[in-house]
Amino acid sequence: MRVLLIEDEKKLSAFITKGLTQEGFSVDSAAGAAEASRQLLNGVYDLVIMDVNLPDGDGFALLEAMRREGDATPVIMLTARGSVDDKVRGLESGANDYLTKPFAFRELVARARVLLRPAEKPEDVLTAGDLSLDVRSRRVTRAGRRIELTNKEFALLEVLLRSAGRPVSRAVLWEHAWEGSFEVDSNVLDVHMGRLRRKVDAGAGGKLIRTVYGVGYQIEAPERG
Ligand code: CA
Repeated sequence: MRVLLIEDEKKLSAFITKGLTQEGFSVDSAAGAAEASRQLLNGVYDLVIMDVNLPDGDGFALLEAMRREGDATPVIMLTARGSVDDKVRGLESGANDYLTKPFAFRELVARARVLLRPAEKPEDVLTAGDLSLDVRSRRVTRAGRRIELTNKEFALLEVLLRSAGRPVSRAVLWEHAWEGSFEVDSNVLDVHMGRLRRKVDAGAGGKLIRTVYGVGYQIEAPERG
């Protein structure tokens, strides 16, 4: 993870650089706004830590310029000023987080880690027993055999698999497969579930989908490997 630290106080800059390096970050430092602008143009950073009070300009202007140019790199602002106005201005300028000096170093590290954590992606391949559904390619197989599903059947199976091992209510199934339609039509739902069950459970080893009376439907939990 590459970090650009923009801080003109030499001692503080050295302290943060040393600490972040020990935490496994790769740190470049700049002592002013002009130097930082050059580094931002030349380098690719995962995170910018920026002091507000710089000898040749202020951090807000630098941050606003970054955002205007479409640079979305996460930014943590550092400042001695702790007023509400400054915090608001920092966040309005496009800062992702804000720390008032003096701050605890481990708080800086914790906030940096939060910003650098990749967004959690939903799983692409869902399974139950020998059934597998690939959300991206929309490929569904049971024991290696391809199963062709309609869009509604696919949507129903996906919801069941995302809650594998737990009952899914009729309302939730309906909501997912019939987006924007609020009234649950039980007959229509049962017809589509019936077709889905025939396709999924046909022939192969054992039924995976079962009716949960008074609730909805449930698919077996994936086999524990
Ligand atoms: Ca400063």
